[in-house]
Amino acid sequence: MAIAKGYAAASASAPLTPFTFDRREPNDDDVVIAIKHCGVCHSDIHMVDNGWGQSVYPIVPGHEITGVVTAVGSKVSRFKEGDRVGVGCFVDSCTTCAARDLDREQYMPGLVLTYSGFEPGADLPTYGGYSDHMVVKEGYVLSIPDNLPLDAAAPLLCAGITLYSPLRHWNAGPGKSVAILGLGGLGHMGVKIAHAMGAEVTVLSQTLSKQADGLAMGADHYYATSDAATFETLAGTFDLLICTVSAGIDWGAYLNLLKVDGTMVLVGAPEEPVPLNAFALIPGRRTLAGSMIGSIKETQEMLDFCGEHGIVADIETIAIDQINAAYERMQKSDVRYRFVIDMATL
Ligand code: NAP
Ligand code: ZN
Repeated sequence: MAIAKGYAAASASAPLTPFTFDRREPNDDDVVIAIKHCGVCHSDIHMVDNGWGQSVYPIVPGHEITGVVTAVGSKVSRFKEGDRVGVGCFVDSCTTCAARDLDREQYMPGLVLTYSGFEPGADLPTYGGYSDHMVVKEGYVLSIPDNLPLDAAAPLLCAGITLYSPLRHWNAGPGKSVAILGLGGLGHMGVKIAHAMGAEVTVLSQTLSKQADGLAMGADHYYATSDAATFETLAGTFDLLICTVSAGIDWGAYLNLLKVDGTMVLVGAPEEPVPLNAFALIPGRRTLAGSMIGSIKETQEMLDFCGEHGIVADIETIAIDQINAAYERMQKSDVRYRFVIDMATL
């Protein structure tokens, strides 16, 4: 066992405070990573609050992790000491079924989340990236392209792949009209990636307060959802609408913005169910879909794509003792556009 330092919440109502815990000794196929930066995802807030009812306490959040390799096991072939690496939302998965071959292991039951899960074959819970180091199986470690800084690249490990995967799956590209609903951590990555893929990109935000930023990120159009006229102007416009909103909304109103055969993809995961009128789907043969992060192979593909296009997150760097204040600001949509913890402040 090696002692690790981090920040944890002891229960659903507790703030994050300093926490010391054990990390397992590295196995032959493990990579030891000194964590340099960790992005703050809205899922961290849902999980700390037990909003989805699956949290294991104490909880050390963080799944947008970048750092430097400090040691590797004897069977590790792809990484060496000093390499710049990342870890995303899961650290193990089902390896006995065909899922890994199909590159959709994130949807299989054997998935081990980076935090609030359990290490296979051990009683230790998984603890995430708000900490000084991690021990991760080689197969779940990603390479960060040389031209991307470790701080601004950290949010790619969740926000980046969560948008890249549905944009690829539903063929965003030239000739496709794509809407991104919510310009937060996920949404701003969606704008940059969809633009780089060649799609025509529209931001749907609560107000126009971030319009200049959205256009600078690559959006072609920007509308406020607080303006009822938006829903008339844009009716029947989009091939693909990706909803990144973390709260309940009127899904029917957004489905009406799709073309015939258009698809609305939920990546935002509100804690409450939202009722839906069947006629939001039926008249336009529309599809309402969901999407969860991406496979390891697809995450590396996304990182390489971002390296080629020079895409990183727009970040606000914080010290780890500012984390509770950062959560409060995110709950008010007051973030431009991702908080990233500088782990040197731990
Ligand atoms: P975030 O940075 O807080 O951004 C969410 C954005 O949604 C806000 O910036 C805001 O954008 C909009 N919004 C917030 N509250 C709203 C409300 N009441 N009504 C309308 N719009 C609202 O959060 P995030 O980190 O991007 O995460 C977003 C959601 O995705 C969370 O539920 C998270 O758990 C989920 N998530 C899912 C996956 C997956 O694999 N599916 C992965 C990561 C995260 P505007 O200010 O522009 O309106
Ligand atoms: Zn996340």
